[in-house]
Amino acid sequence: MSCVSASTRRSVTDDLAQEIRQLKEKIGATILAHYYQDGEIQDLADVTGDSLKLARAATRVDSPVIVFCGVHFMAETAKILNPTKRVLLPDLEAGCSLAESCPADKLARYQEMLRLNGRRFQTVTYINSTAATKALSDWIVTSGNAEEVIRRVPPDVEILFVPDKHLGAYLQEVTGRKMILWDGACIVHEIFSVQDLLKLKKQYPQAKTIAHPECPANIREHADFIGGTENMLKYIGRFAEPTDFLVATEANMMWQMQSRFPQHRYHPVPGITCACNKCPHMARNTLEKLRDCMVNLAPEIHWQPEFDQAKKVLERSLLPTAPQAPAPVGD
Ligand code: SF4
Repeated sequence: MSCVSASTRRSVTDDLAQEIRQLKEKIGATILAHYYQDGEIQDLADVTGDSLKLARAATRVDSPVIVFCGVHFMAETAKILNPTKRVLLPDLEAGCSLAESCPADKLARYQEMLRLNGRRFQTVTYINSTAATKALSDWIVTSGNAEEVIRRVPPDVEILFVPDKHLGAYLQEVTGRKMILWDGACIVHEIFSVQDLLKLKKQYPQAKTIAHPECPANIREHADFIGGTENMLKYIGRFAEPTDFLVATEANMMWQMQSRFPQHRYHPVPGITCACNKCPHMARNTLEKLRDCMVNLAPEIHWQPEFDQAKKVLERSLLPTAPQAPAPVGD
């Protein structure tokens, strides 16, 4: 019985995938998918990647439509970097706990308070933020380029890092720059259980532990490697012999690891409250919604007034050819 229902599900998935491929041709779309999307969505994408890779890929798309399988701030970024394209997001409600933790009005008030106190600072903002928050920033970083960008901030200027306090703390450790940290966190990376990680380490004593820098220090301190998703893949690629990896990041990332390096074994580090570690925001995008957005050409990301300023900040931060550092602010 369960066999029949599994094969029925497979056939529905295959039909949907076929329909999506046909729609892609019909409307002239390029599908960009984040590594945290379900494997069946990543399978249909033209490009898969982390935020940085996808943001850069968006600038090279030559089809008229970009379908962004990820969360809202990512689709917004694709639109900002590529304003002439129609950018579709399968579910407009796909948000992000980090982006929500740092609304633009709250950030503007905090910056104003620092200025009134005579502090000279630049605002370095993680890409997991709204366009309005990006527009108030001097730099945008991803987990892939944060160290490099932070080293470009003049040493006599303070850094206000928003919104991820764990990534900010990690960057303080690796760059030696003291920062003012915003109090935001990712709901997925914040809840890994250190007790369960230690149990797994006992069970697989030869295993390598890899952790995303959005994880808190109590997880990072047990890791053999800390890095964003793209760097995790590079790290795993260095191991030729079959190896066990204990993985402290969003669970769908293991689909990508398994596809590229099938000789290894991957063990998810469980969360305190939930064993699956899947991002509920990313999970809002489904094959059905992907198909529907291509049929309806909606939901679409429309240009907003704050996109103009966010574009300048994004371009000088993320695009390798973009010029010049901003002047320090706060005085
Ligand atoms: S995994 Fe965390 S940071 Fe990434 S989209 Fe989900 S809530 Fe945001």
